[in-house]
Amino acid sequence: NLFEQYGLSDSILKAINELGYSEPTEIQKQTIPYLLSKEEDLIALAQTGTGKTAAFSLPILEQIDENIKKVQALILCPTRELCLQISRDIANYSKYLSNVSSLAVYGGSSISDQIKGLKKNPQIVIGTPGRVNDMIKRGVLKLNEVQWLVLDEADEMLSMGFKQELETILVETPKDRRTYLFSATMSKQVESIAKNYMKGAHKISA
Ligand code: AMP
Repeated sequence: NLFEQYGLSDSILKAINELGYSEPTEIQKQTIPYLLSKEEDLIALAQTGTGKTAAFSLPILEQIDENIKKVQALILCPTRELCLQISRDIANYSKYLSNVSSLAVYGGSSISDQIKGLKKNPQIVIGTPGRVNDMIKRGVLKLNEVQWLVLDEADEMLSMGFKQELETILVETPKDRRTYLFSATMSKQVESIAKNYMKGAHKISA
């Protein structure tokens, strides 16, 4: 399995093997070694279907501190469907990491159940910007230990009108976080977020 070259833990490799992944996709080849070795930001121009979820999730899972029961990674995406998809993928990749847990938070679904989920202290939260903001305002989602912030389908989130919410979240997360922005297109609005909230980002396209 060509994923072995990255030095990922046996637990992650076992899960990847079971999913039938034997070779990294183009974007995974470009991002996995980079995200495992560099503490820098990333801007990736990538369409869906390229394997971008594993591209950012595997390096994050590899580096999560299982002993810290705080939100360490926050992944933002535009829709409930994508949120659930990413959440399922991460659950699959982390199947054998018994002390790592994740939670999806999105609108149109019971907020009290999601608040209960947050009380179990997941290390990874996958959410839509509106619901994440709501949770921040209610004081139930604390982002002060976030090390990785992923903006998935950033162009979609911005064209749906989530600029304000994204900016609030960008300000609420620690300045020394790593920010990974994935977008199918580089609109003016995406460039403005990158310019104002990211530092010296490495750019790739796949
Ligand atoms: P994504 O672009 O993240 O939505 O991924 C698209 C599809 O490709 C999903 O069904 C993934 O499970 C699958 N996938 C991702 N990486 C690989 C890989 N290296 N080998 C085979 N399938 C993959």
